Amino acid sequence: MRCPTCGASEDRVVDSRPAPDGDAIRRRRECRACGARFTTFERVELPELLVRKRSGTVSAFSRPKVLEGMQRAAKGRVAGSELDRAAAAVEQALRTLGVREVDSEQVGLQVLAQLRDLDPVAYVRFASVYKDFQGPEDFEKELHSLRKEAPPKGA
Ligand SMILES: [Zn+2]
Repeated sequence: MRCPTCGASEDRVVDSRPAPDGDAIRRRRECRACGARFTTFERVELPELLVRKRSGTVSAFSRPKVLEGMQRAAKGRVAGSELDRAAAAVEQALRTLGVREVDSEQVGLQVLAQLRDLDPVAYVRFASVYKDFQGPEDFEKELHSLRKEAPPKGA
């Protein structure tokens, strides 16, 4: 690794630990030429995952974007760390499909599956946007299916 201070390429690793998000290894390095210390991150390179919208446009899957949608739905109801985990689980579930391109619909369904386990209100909020609810009867239907498929914990 080239030293950012002097440009030399000889260094030694003085510390190595998982980064806070768990997806990377963080290494502290020391330049053998000038002694400057710097940090590098090592990550697994994942193949690109593409998402096709209903309009037909295709863009790269973005975990932050998924997380944003979940945060909106779960506002004030679910801890941030839980949502981080849920967004990671959405990505993992999509990658497990083993395809290069998924529909935005599949992304939405995975988000719903995660929110269903986390918080019923967040789930229904997300579903109302995602499934384009037109009236109270749509909420009623969704709540009914929620009660049927996911009995409250401890019941
Ligand atoms: Zn140096």
